[in-house]
Parts: sequence; structure tokens; C-alpha cells
Amino acid sequence: MIRIDERRIFEVIEERKPHSVALNGAEALIPKLQDAADHISERFGIEAYVIGDTCWGSCDLNTHAADMLGADILFSVGHTVAMETFGDKVVMINAYDDVSFDKVAYKFAEDMKGKFSAISLLTDSQHLEQVEGAKRIFEDMGYRVIIGKGKGQLKDAQVFGCEFYPAWNVQKQVDAYVFLGQSQFHAASVAMSTEKPTFMLDPYFEEYTQVNEFAQGLQKRAILAIYKAADANTIGLVIGLKEGQFAHVRALELKKEFERLGKKVQLIALTEITDDRMQIFKNIDAFVQVACPRIATDNHFSKPMLSVPQALALIKLLKKEPVEDFLRMQHWL
Ligand code: SF4
Repeated sequence: MIRIDERRIFEVIEERKPHSVALNGAEALIPKLQDAADHISERFGIEAYVIGDTCWGSCDLNTHAADMLGADILFSVGHTVAMETFGDKVVMINAYDDVSFDKVAYKFAEDMKGKFSAISLLTDSQHLEQVEGAKRIFEDMGYRVIIGKGKGQLKDAQVFGCEFYPAWNVQKQVDAYVFLGQSQFHAASVAMSTEKPTFMLDPYFEEYTQVNEFAQGLQKRAILAIYKAADANTIGLVIGLKEGQFAHVRALELKKEFERLGKKVQLIALTEITDDRMQIFKNIDAFVQVACPRIATDNHFSKPMLSVPQALALIKLLKKEPVEDFLRMQHWL
């Protein structure tokens, strides 16, 4: 069960004495945020707003909504990162899932005996607390377990869908990656960036899955989009307006490169980058978006839609340089 660290929320409110607060987090957490908002209002007699817009990560804080509401504090819940605050307004609040990985870890360790001897454990924000326990299980079962060091916003063993330093830095020392949690989204990105055997351990169904085949499917689609975009005369260059995904400078750099290579570029700014929204724009043959890289790799678009690593690969392709390994990076932005 996922538990929000309400104790920390109450401590911050007691310290700062706000007139009102706002809460946001991933869609799956909204019912828990509603409970937390009720508890805040009952305890402190202040307004607590639940922001219902999408919130994909610490890159998607939506302080603009908190400002519009006049909330003194925005509690961003469930995206545990190395920083506790962003600016004066945003306080990051942990939400941990206390489900046990013991059974599925023992099962995986038993089945993989002799196949792999050194593994690295990885996880998302919700299961960071379980890494140590899983490490002990694998060590008891005779595995060498390496926990990759965090960097930037990432803690040790933590990966985002576009950022994988703890995985990347230990590649040469491990035979396989073991991701703790149900997120194929995170596990597949590790497989794509490292191309090593990567498994996902699901503690609820007590099953494990190798995600490399799924990751290869995403990678093939990403390559196909690059080759289709090579024929484009006009490229729509989309700047995402979510605050942590705003990459205006990167967009202008890419625009210059594409223009040098004979492409016409239309600059577009947008908050939610979806196929429906892209259909509004006329005379565009392909899109490049500089917001979240997974928008392009994981969603369907009627016209080619590229992320930053794909756009860099397209530039190489147009210059007749080799493009393979374009996802083999520790950060896809
Ligand atoms: S994958 Fe997308 S949503 Fe997740 S951290 Fe990266 S930019 Fe943000």
C-alpha cells in the first residue's frame, strides 16, 4: 500500500504557517491526495487544493497552478528526488509503497542461479526503501549486488524514464539489471539505454518479466520515425511548456541545425503534446519535441514525432553519419 508522508506535510505547515496549500502528484495518487487535503484542512483549518492536472515527475511541478490559487506551499507528492525543495514554494513529499519484494526476489534469484552472477538493483521513487532488503536477499543467494550511485536529482539505485545514471555507471560491472516495481516504463528505458538483460520484479503478482523485447519494440519504432522524418520539408519544433521540461535554448539550437540542413522549421509551444493537438497544425511533415523524451517513444502520433536523442540522430542521418546507438546515453535530454 502506498503511504504519503503526511507527518512531513504537517511539520512543514507547522513551521511555515501558510494560509493555504496545494498538493499534486501522479494520477494514481490522487485519491490519497484527497485524503491528505482533508486531513490538512481538519487539522489546521486552512484551504488545501488538490491539483488534478497531469503530473508526470519532478519535471512537471505545476507551480503556476499553485500561484494562480494563491497557495503558499505546493506539496509535490511521490516524486522522491535528492532535493527536498524547489524554490520557496515547492516541498517534495515522499510516497512509499510498503509492499514486500521478498517472495519475488527469492523466486528470481533461484531461477537465475548460474545465469547471472553480478546484478544491479534499480527502482523508481516509490520503492527506494526496499532496495536494501532486496540487496540482502540477493547477496544471501550468492549474487554480487552493485547499487549504482545517484547523480543530479537521482538517488542511489533510482532511475527516471529519461535519466539513468545509477544504471549507466555500473554497466561494465554487471550481467543484468533487476528493476524493483511494476513500471515497465522505467525498466524498458534502462534496457534501451544499456542494452543489457533487464528484468522487472512485480511484487503484487510475485512474477518477474524480462523487458528487453518490449524495449526493442519501442526502439524500432523510434528508429522508423527518424527515417520517416528524414524526408520532411517542414519540421514542427515543439517546445513543451511544463516548467521542468522547458527547453527553449535546445529548441533554438536544433532549429539552426535543421535550417542549415535545408529544412524549414516552424516553432510551436504547447503544454500537453498529444496526437490530437498536433493535428491542428497545417503544412508540417514531422515534429520534434524537446520536452519529455518519452512522449515521442511511447505514444502514437500520426506524423513522425521525435524526441531530442532522435532529433540528434536525424541530424546525423542527414549528414550521412552513422546513427546507431542514439539511445545509448545516460540522460535523454
Ligand atoms: S521521462 Fe519525462 S516525465 Fe519522466 S522525468 Fe523524464 S522528462 Fe520527466
